[in-house]
Amino acid sequence: AGAQKGRVYELLRSSSRLKLFSERAVRLQRLLEQLDSWDFDVFQAAETTGGFPLFLVAYNLMLVHNVIAPFGLNETVVRKALHTIEAGYLRNPYHNSIHAADVTQTMCYFISKPFLLPYVTALEKLASIIAAAIHDYAHPGVNNNFHVAARLDLAIVYNDRAVLENFHVSSFFQLMRRPDDNMFATMDADMQKQIRQLIISMVLATDMAVHFDEVAKFKSKLIQVRRDMGRDDVGPSTPSSAARDDDGRKRSTASIAEKPRKKSVGNVASAKEAPARRTSFIKTAADTDLFLRMALHTADVSNPAKPIYLAKKWTEMVVEEFYAQGDRERDLGLPISAFMDRNTGNVPKLQLGFIDFIVKPLFEQWASVMDEVAEVCLPQLLDVRAYWSREQEAGARKGSVGSADAGSPASRSARADPGSPASKLRIPPAAAVKEEDSMDAASEGSEH
Ligand SMILES: [Zn+2]
Repeated sequence: AGAQKGRVYELLRSSSRLKLFSERAVRLQRLLEQLDSWDFDVFQAAETTGGFPLFLVAYNLMLVHNVIAPFGLNETVVRKALHTIEAGYLRNPYHNSIHAADVTQTMCYFISKPFLLPYVTALEKLASIIAAAIHDYAHPGVNNNFHVAARLDLAIVYNDRAVLENFHVSSFFQLMRRPDDNMFATMDADMQKQIRQLIISMVLATDMAVHFDEVAKFKSKLIQVRRDMGRDDVGPSTPSSAARDDDGRKRSTASIAEKPRKKSVGNVASAKEAPARRTSFIKTAADTDLFLRMALHTADVSNPAKPIYLAKKWTEMVVEEFYAQGDRERDLGLPISAFMDRNTGNVPKLQLGFIDFIVKPLFEQWASVMDEVAEVCLPQLLDVRAYWSREQEAGARKGSVGSADAGSPASRSARADPGSPASKLRIPPAAAVKEEDSMDAASEGSEH
């Protein structure tokens, strides 16, 4: 009887395990069907895989974009390398493998769109996926500024320039020297050289220090592109999008349904029908390189353009990492970086500055040539902006935003602004975001 009881127990246990397994398989299947969606929930990917979102996303995107077989890559080595890369990401509050998976998925969203897809070679697709997957490899959780200010080893190794970006890409190519992990081993020397150049170029362009120079190049290139596409060159347009409710999912659907009006619908249609004309703007390797660099950088700062429930989660994570850096700066007697002092933190202001000076200008540029960005991403970004704007107003009404205990003067950075102009002057929050603070956020706080 005892043995029978044992068998029944075993049976029950294995069937519940099977059920668990099949539920997980169904969830994974559903997730993978969303892999090309702007609303892809990378946190669910992390949960469902038990902590391997980067492997799930990168490996499946490699399959989707068919970049394994054409280069004769060894699938076992590819899988091993992706696991090694994921394991190399520390468990930072923000710069972890979920962020890497998010940027990889978002990067592929851009290169999968008709504006780019026909002009991106298989090698460039492979380079894009790997560059995104490794772009923050082994990130220590403190930014370039901290490395330089605290004179950490990496700052000395890389002469204070693009310290972390150099470190990420260099560490990855160190990894590629190990036969077990060298997924490029089967490629010929010329291809290995090309993919190395592409990956280095893309990852170094994620350095916030080159943001404004890169955007300037991108802008002038897009003027030419819009001319070639036959779009009136009125510059990027900003569709208006009113916030409707606090449910990110509902609003995201509404945003997609509510398409912004385009200025030259006829011309857009003809540009779509005449792909041959469009090749005129992506004809050199340098052109593609610029678009891929901008796509990766945009993916890297895309958090506020995602559905609100994702955008808020990313904000919590990045703020936790910023405050941890601020604590270390305080302990070392260094000036505390803007928005990194937990005693004076102002999250809505940080987000509004980041959106207005970094993220929105980038998405507006893409929206002027990429319909999906105009119809899906940019309206979403404006919804998220409206949310932070309401949060800031609510904080100002309570008189709590920015006027929390500022701490002793010595405990905060000379550049940190503890007083919120909005709370004192009652001026609109958008105008209250000072450019100086936003630049600080761009160069110090918002490094991804
Ligand atoms: Zn990043």
